[in-house]
Amino acid sequence: MGILVQKFGGTSLSTPLAREHVIRHVKRELASGFSLVVVVSAMGRKGEPYATDTLLDLAVQSGNSLPDRERDMLMCCGEIISAANLCGLLEQEGIRSTVLTGAQAGFLTDNSYGNARILDVRTERILRELREHKVVIVTGFQGQTEAGDFTTLGRGGSDTSATALGAALRADMVDIYTDVDGILTADPRIVEDAKQLTYVSYTEICNMAYQGAKVIHPRAVEIAMQAQIPVRVRSTFSEAEGTLVTHPEGFSDVSHGVVDRFVTGIAYVSNITQISVECPEGNGTGVQLQIFKSMADNEISVDFINVTPSEALYTVNDDKSEQAIAVLQELGLRPKSLSGCAKVSVIGGGINGVPGIMARIVEALSSQNIQILQSADSNTTIWVLVKKEDMVQSVRALHTKFELHR
Ligand code: ADP
Ligand code: MG
Repeated sequence: MGILVQKFGGTSLSTPLAREHVIRHVKRELASGFSLVVVVSAMGRKGEPYATDTLLDLAVQSGNSLPDRERDMLMCCGEIISAANLCGLLEQEGIRSTVLTGAQAGFLTDNSYGNARILDVRTERILRELREHKVVIVTGFQGQTEAGDFTTLGRGGSDTSATALGAALRADMVDIYTDVDGILTADPRIVEDAKQLTYVSYTEICNMAYQGAKVIHPRAVEIAMQAQIPVRVRSTFSEAEGTLVTHPEGFSDVSHGVVDRFVTGIAYVSNITQISVECPEGNGTGVQLQIFKSMADNEISVDFINVTPSEALYTVNDDKSEQAIAVLQELGLRPKSLSGCAKVSVIGGGINGVPGIMARIVEALSSQNIQILQSADSNTTIWVLVKKEDMVQSVRALHTKFELHR
């Protein structure tokens, strides 16, 4: 009998009606004969009583002195509440279930509190519970150090819990249930006519997720890809099968023909600061080395790097910009900065070498009077930096230009 991992996100568990849908998906898959491991996030979104963001606010209110270890204890509560609640609802329906915390489910992590890395998933306990024909509900987003301390896995952590369990249990499939129909060509909150993709490759969605498409966490995709476990991203609120994420070869088993698109989707990240530093003639290289070494020493991550003999141009997150500027000034440099920018990305496996793509991007943006502050490209992605107020319009213009609504 195969194992299926189902992961339900915050909005999928936030209301009694949503939870009825969750129970329906559990029942259906049990009826198909699967052994079920159900990974849950905390209930609801920011502002709702047991949501992760609410706990984060509480952590902030607990003061700057709350140690990281104890902060993670606080952050683990949301998933525990959610899991116990679901257990009660399933039992009421006559479905035997048991709740395991991250620790009890076997998640061994390092001790980087707030962003712990999974070292191992020891599945004995889960397998034992499954053998007793129980639905195993696992609290997402959490693990335990070798010493037995609570840890959390960082943003999107429940996605990571789900695919890590899928990999460790050699599950047939990991279903990520959420509040949209699947993976779309752009965030539907911004692009109304974004189109659902029936299949995407691990690489395609990983690239989209790294560029800001929040629908699944890139780390979760990488784990699934390594273990070659297929993932479906689908809606809690319907029976539709959503988007299948697998290897491109996997498409041919299930699809009717070849998937060959050169642009998969558009993604965005906001709150970015562009920094430029003029480099003196003759010692450009020395100064550039100094700049990037000082950023690294101060643990400021940099992106969008353009280096020319006379200038170093790069971006940092807005919340790091003051620190970055201070560091550069201490080196005796005179940096210029532009905060409130956004990075908009055109992502697709087929971008490499297709002539005219950059021309189309420039055309799409300039026709809307949007200024491109910087650009860069790789095999799979073309990035443009724009002002934050132009972000939404940029995403829409590019989505239309590449006819992704078709
Ligand atoms: P959950 O709580 O279920 O984990 P998330 O908020 O993390 O839900 O992810 C779902 C959200 O991701 C959607 O509501 C949607 O607005 C957003 N999103 C961003 N980009 C995309 C995309 N390309 N396709 C689908 N959803 C996207
Ligand atoms: Mg999520």
